[in-house]
Amino acid sequence: RLYGSSEFFRWPFIFAKGASGFVIELQNVSKVYQTKSGAVPAVQNVSLKIEKGDVFGIIGLSGAGKSTLVRCLNFLERPSEGKVIFNGAELGSLTKKQLLKTRQSMSMIFQGFNLLAQRTALKNVCYPLEISGTPRAKAITKAKKLLELVGLGERLNAYPAQLSGGQKQRVAIARALATDPQVLLCDEATSALDPNTTRSILALLKEINQTLGVTIIVITHEMRVVEQICNRVAVMDGGKVVETGLVRDVFLAPQSQTARDLILPGVSLTPAAHGPRVIRVVFDGQSSFEPVIANLILECRTSVNILGADTKNLEGKAYGQMLLQLPEAEPEQQRITDYLTLHHIKFEEVAQ
Ligand code: ADP
Repeated sequence: RLYGSSEFFRWPFIFAKGASGFVIELQNVSKVYQTKSGAVPAVQNVSLKIEKGDVFGIIGLSGAGKSTLVRCLNFLERPSEGKVIFNGAELGSLTKKQLLKTRQSMSMIFQGFNLLAQRTALKNVCYPLEISGTPRAKAITKAKKLLELVGLGERLNAYPAQLSGGQKQRVAIARALATDPQVLLCDEATSALDPNTTRSILALLKEINQTLGVTIIVITHEMRVVEQICNRVAVMDGGKVVETGLVRDVFLAPQSQTARDLILPGVSLTPAAHGPRVIRVVFDGQSSFEPVIANLILECRTSVNILGADTKNLEGKAYGQMLLQLPEAEPEQQRITDYLTLHHIKFEEVAQ
């Protein structure tokens, strides 16, 4: 089928356009702000590659440089050094006109929604289409479709003040999609929302990523946001990317102190100073937590003492670790370790 379809003929074009397969590539990007009290190095020597279809998280505490980095991505802020490459084109080499055009492929949503208060939901979504010269009737049809997509088909004529925070962000998402962007930049887009609304907005973003193929970049200080939708993550601290990788790898084995602090805030996995043998069981997404422990207890006909646990549910699978204190009797200990080995569940002895 591939050979007969137009899809086949698009391949050479795709390869010619973005030979690397990355939508965005940052090469040694730095941004220094000159202020009265001196130079502020907000972003320092950041190199990142974001693949088409990624939901890429950039996480860090306040002041880490996330917003500056995201503004460098679309050249709202010109980096002091380094290159930003979008679909194979270096943004620094584009004319103003080309840059404006390229920016249409990178929409943005914000914590504060930034809707126009005097315009209805429908007219807010029409706005970028008006600017790009889309005929009115066409713009309205498209805006209606997008508002349906985000679940607001019934609220076309509502003004922002009549909508909840979550609904306002849905309008902002519809508006961001109006220019058919390849990339959607979300700058703390759920930080003003309650946990339930946050979950529903993140689910919508994931759906947009999967159904429309839009690459999404999520700037956040919250690990739960990364957990819910990102496949890759970069951890920022002091203007630098201190760690980057697949979310599950970073969760399972964080390499940097910043990542550890973000992932395991305040959970002490230090075993009790005395008592029988303690093991650390690692959940790497192959198994889920509850059946493992329940079955272990049932099959081994013994109990274990859970000293500490930090597991995360990522896309329905368990990641994390748990400290188990084994029973006193050696044969029971053996049954437990045999059970874990048989079921390919990773564990290690913890020195006491
Ligand atoms: P984050 O988004 O992670 O909170 P920012 O990118 O906003 O971090 O800020 C990174 C650093 O750069 C901070 O020290 C901040 O004070 C500084 N900074 C950000 N914008 C400016 C600016 N326009 N002028 C001077 N300093 C700035």
